[in-house]
Amino acid sequence: MSTEHPSTAEATPRTARDCDVVVIGAGPAGLMAARTLTRHGLSVTVLEARDRVGGRTWNGLVQGADGREHFIEIGGQWISPDQTRLTALVEELGLPTFQRYREGASVYLSPDGTRHVYDGEMPVSETTQAEMDRLIAELDALAAEVGATAPWDHPRAAELDAVPFRTWLTSLSEDQEAIDNVSIYVASGMLTKPSTTFSLLQAVLMAASAGSFSNLVDEDFILDARVEGGMQSVSRAMAAELGEDVVLGQPVRTLHWAEPDAATADALNEVAADVRDGVPQDGGPGDVLAVTEDYEVRARYAVLAVPPNLYSRISYVPPLPRRQMVAHQHLSMGLVIKVHAVYETPFWREEGLSGTCFGGGRLVQELYDNTNRGANDAGGEPGVEDTCGTMVGFVSDVHAERIWELPAERRREEILEAMAEYLGPRAKEPVAFFLSDMAAEEWTRGAYATSYDLGGLSRWGHLQNRPVGPIHFACSDIAAEGYQHVDGAVRMGEAAALAIVDQERRG
Ligand SMILES: Cc1cc2nc3c(=O)[nH]c(=O)nc-3n(C[C@H](O)[C@H](O)[C@H](O)COP(=O)(O)OP(=O)(O)OC[C@H]3O[C@@H](n4cnc5c(N)ncnc54)[C@H](O)[C@@H]3O)c2cc1C
Repeated sequence: MSTEHPSTAEATPRTARDCDVVVIGAGPAGLMAARTLTRHGLSVTVLEARDRVGGRTWNGLVQGADGREHFIEIGGQWISPDQTRLTALVEELGLPTFQRYREGASVYLSPDGTRHVYDGEMPVSETTQAEMDRLIAELDALAAEVGATAPWDHPRAAELDAVPFRTWLTSLSEDQEAIDNVSIYVASGMLTKPSTTFSLLQAVLMAASAGSFSNLVDEDFILDARVEGGMQSVSRAMAAELGEDVVLGQPVRTLHWAEPDAATADALNEVAADVRDGVPQDGGPGDVLAVTEDYEVRARYAVLAVPPNLYSRISYVPPLPRRQMVAHQHLSMGLVIKVHAVYETPFWREEGLSGTCFGGGRLVQELYDNTNRGANDAGGEPGVEDTCGTMVGFVSDVHAERIWELPAERRREEILEAMAEYLGPRAKEPVAFFLSDMAAEEWTRGAYATSYDLGGLSRWGHLQNRPVGPIHFACSDIAAEGYQHVDGAVRMGEAAALAIVDQERRG
C-alpha cells in the first residue's frame, strides 16, 4: 500500500497509533461499534472531529434571564418503546429514564387558525378523520409489505420510489387537511423536507423503521421517554469506558484503504490507477491508514460512523469505487430548528394542558412539554423534576429556511407568537430561549438526518450498508429499525462491529 500523504517535514510529526479498527466519528454509532469491538478483544482508536462526543446528541445549557443556567437537549432525546436496543444499552449503562409529561388536553390549530383543546382523537371533521384513517391504513399496509430492512429489494421499489410522497397522497384524497396532517408525520415531522422532494418508498421506509405508520402518528409512542441528564450521556458513558481510545478534535481528512488496480490506469489520459471496479474482498481486512492533523492511525479495518452527507469530506486514497461516489451524492440532510423555551413554571399544566400541540403547515407545527427531570449539567436531583417548565417545538424545512433569514429578534418574536397561538400569551415570556442550529455545525450540516432524493433509495440503497474493502459503514441514517434515530445508530454500530468480529473469526 502507498502510505504517501502530505509531508510533515516542517510540521510537528503526527502521533502514530496502531490498532485493529479505526472508528471515524464518536457519535452513538461509532462509540457503540468501538464498545462492541473492544468487548470482543479487538483494539480500537476512535477519531472524532468535534471537541466532544455524542454527535447529533448534545447536552446543552442556556443562560436564563432569571440568572440560572438551564439544561436543554440540543439534539436527539426521545426513545420509543420499539427502540429496544437503545433501551437495553441505556439500562446497561445505568442511566435512569423518565416519561414525557402527557397529562391533560392537547391543542390543535386547524388550517383557518381556530384553536381546539381536545382529548383523544384530533378534533377534525368526521370526513377528514375518515380520510386520515384511510391514508394511514394504506401506509400501514405498505410499511408491513415493504419492511425496513431492504426496501430496494421490493418488486415495486422503483415504482414506489418514482412518486413524490405528496403526489401519492393527493392521488388518494382531495381532503387538504387530511393530507397535511398525514404528511406532517413523515415530511416536516421526520425527514424534515417538503413532501414533494422525497418518494413514497422513502416515506414507507420511515414508517416501517418505526414498526408502522400508526406508530409515527402516535406521539405518546414515538416521543415516549428521555434519559435523565440527557441523551448525550449515553455517548459520554461509552466514551468513558473507552478512555484514551477516543481522541477528540481530530477530523479524519484522508483515509488510505486499498491498493489501486493497475489495470485501471490510463496512460494516454494520465489517469492514475484506482479501484473503479471495486476491490476483491469487501468487508475483509486490509491496510488502513486514517490521517488527521495530529494523528496517523494504522489499522486493519475502518468503521465510518459519520452521516452519509459527510462521507465526501474525507479524501479516500485511492478514490472509492464509482458506484459509491455516485450513490453518496443522493443522500442529503433535512433542515429543522428545535426550539427551546424555558418558563418560570410549566404554566400550561395549570390550565389542564399536556403541552402537546399540533398545527399542520404552521410555522411551529408541533410543541411538547420538555420539562427536565433528574441531575443534569445545570444541577438537579436524581428523579426530581425541575421547577421551571420547558417547551420544545419544531420549525421545519421551508419554514426553517425563511426564519433563518430574519434578524434574531424578529425570528424569536415570530416563533414565540406562533407558540402563543397554541398556549396563550404567557408563551411569549420565556426566561430562556434557544434555537438548535445543527445546519450550521460543520460536522453535521442539517437535521435530523439524511434521506434519499426521489428515486435514490431504490437505485442506491442496496449499497449503503455494504462494506467497501476494509471500510464498514455505521450510522443511524443507514439503519433499518431505528432509522434516523439513536436506536438505529446503536444497532448499526453494533452490526458493523460484529461483522468485523465475524470476519476475524473466519480468518
Ligand atoms: C435536533 C435533533 C433532534 C433529534 N431528535 C431525536 C430524538 O428525539 N430521538 C432520536 O432517537 N433521535 C433524534 N435525532 C437523531 C439522532 O440524534 C441521530 O440519529 C444520532 O445522533 C445519529 O448517531 P450517529 O452516530 O449515526 O451520527 P452522529 O450523531 O451524527 O455522529 C457522527 C459523528 O461523526 C463525527 N464526524 C463527522 N465527520 C468526521 C470526520 N471526518 N472525522 C471524524 N469525525 C467525524 C461528528 O462530529 C459526529 O460526532 C435528532 C437529531 C437532531 C439533530
